[in-house]
Amino acid sequence: MSQPPLQHVTVLGSTGSIGTNTLNVIARHPDRYRVYALTAHTSKEVLLAQCKVHRPHVAVLNDPRDAQWLHDELAEAGITTQVLAGPEALCDVARESQVDTVMAAIVGAAGLLPALAAAESGKRVLLANKEALVMSGALFMDAVARSGATLLPIDSEHNAIYQCLPAQHRGGLARHGVRQLLLTASGGPFRTWSLEDIATVTPDQACAHPNWSMGRKISVDSATLMNKGLELIEACWLFDASPEQIQVVVHPQSVIHSMAAYDDGSVIAQLGNPDMRTPIAYGLAWPERIDAGVETLDLFQVARLDFEAPDEKRFPCLRLAREAMVKGGAAPAILNAANEVAVDAFLEGQLGFSAIAEVVAEVMGQPFEGSADSLEQILAADKWAREQAALKIQR
Ligand code: NAD
Ligand code: MG
Repeated sequence: MSQPPLQHVTVLGSTGSIGTNTLNVIARHPDRYRVYALTAHTSKEVLLAQCKVHRPHVAVLNDPRDAQWLHDELAEAGITTQVLAGPEALCDVARESQVDTVMAAIVGAAGLLPALAAAESGKRVLLANKEALVMSGALFMDAVARSGATLLPIDSEHNAIYQCLPAQHRGGLARHGVRQLLLTASGGPFRTWSLEDIATVTPDQACAHPNWSMGRKISVDSATLMNKGLELIEACWLFDASPEQIQVVVHPQSVIHSMAAYDDGSVIAQLGNPDMRTPIAYGLAWPERIDAGVETLDLFQVARLDFEAPDEKRFPCLRLAREAMVKGGAAPAILNAANEVAVDAFLEGQLGFSAIAEVVAEVMGQPFEGSADSLEQILAADKWAREQAALKIQR
């Protein structure tokens, strides 16, 4: 077999959970991948260690003083990586002409502009940053179509669905004989808890996910089921589906990562150990397959697979997200922003766990006149929702 061309990769958010898993896969295949740029918000020591191993052309930190520190440390180690600072540099390393592939693994709305920059400049975009697509779905998909970018979902459920659909699945699910997408959810750590007990959840309890090891924000989202709500919106955009075509199925073992149900009665599922290196390796190598360092699933050890319907009474965030998608326009961006502010406040100990959904519902209930036809409008909706959420939390 001929050697595949070398891919030059920018990893946005390289110090996070997805970022470090990406570098783990890349390090297994030095003949296929070179790191062009690594970026982090504040984790300068981790970024320094990553630069020593991967020797990127560019490294980005948010604060110029942190960037100066990293520059000095690298110079002392004899490493010539250029160090940049600030949000604009994130967009620069995403659109850089030498870059083939961009892993979008910044958490939250902060990742929108660089992910969009990658989409607009026709890269292979590995999308982990679901919030970017939730906020700007129409705009983002339009940018991908116009630039000819290759968009590969890294979120495990969407990656699974991608694998279960025909290779060419554009133009609506019905055209391809797909009746429904079955989006699996672990149910989070409080799946079996009563409403009263859920109200007492602490940040440490919320961040201890039973099956997946992830960043703190997505761990809280998984516990409230907002993560599944954001994923429902994400799936609508990625697969040109309506919310009614997507069924959320709680599957506590997290072994089936999602499914596609066809008109002839077939249901195709993708299974594997819950390890994000599988979807990351899929995205990096597509349409080929490479070793991700993940063991083959031991079905005898799994032994059984359980399924149940989600309980939207105990976990209202899922319903709120579906409502936002049905409403359309700026509603998903508003939902996302209010949730980010509420999750931050919860992690800081300023808000109870159950109040996350209450804050999101209250902000969504406020009249908002704007739309989501342009980036400016989306950013304005995001800003407005953050202000509204902050007011409700202070009250
Ligand atoms: P994380 O918190 O572990 O890492 C976030 C990364 O983004 C870090 O490198 C951090 O430095 C950077 N970052 C944070 N705020 C930033 C800012 N304001 N500006 C620039 N960079 C910033 O998060 P994670 O768990 O790796 O998740 C990353 C994204 O991937 C999220 O959107 C999440 O929903 C999605 N995702 C994660 C998983 C998972 O298993 N962790 C699975 C599916 C999807
Ligand atoms: Mg997921």
